[in-house]
Amino acid sequence: MIDRIIQKIKDKGGRMTIQRVTILELLAKLDHPTAEEIFQYTHDRFPSLSFTTVYNTLKSFKQLGVIQEYYMEERSRFELSEKPHPHFHCLQCGCLNDLDPGKITIIMDETLEEELAPVDVELFLHGFCQDCRRNEDKS
Ligand SMILES: [Zn+2]
Ligand SMILES: [Zn+2]
Repeated sequence: MIDRIIQKIKDKGGRMTIQRVTILELLAKLDHPTAEEIFQYTHDRFPSLSFTTVYNTLKSFKQLGVIQEYYMEERSRFELSEKPHPHFHCLQCGCLNDLDPGKITIIMDETLEEELAPVDVELFLHGFCQDCRRNEDKS
């Protein structure tokens, strides 16, 4: 998957460096990380890489259409994905999980469709994940 994404970035004229590949690998490995979380990892390996560079790299990946950015609890979280998809967000532990888009249908009123001409939808379901509900039962 990473190789294909690297190719896509190159095709679109994006630069590819070892630091950028590492950031892509971290995006693939970590679960919806924030820029700070990615920076913690890159800092170990490339101490000279600044937070600003990591952040700007994420912004450029987003512009190239290979990652998604989701704004949650006043922080941006990133994900290696070429398309936005629905998520479930736990109000207790804060976990963010991908939902199968096939299980959710959004029906929009035609007048709204005409009025707003939406091109994208970002969907979050907020609730309590199974782990949190299970722990709640025990206490
Ligand atoms: Zn939870
Ligand atoms: Zn996701």
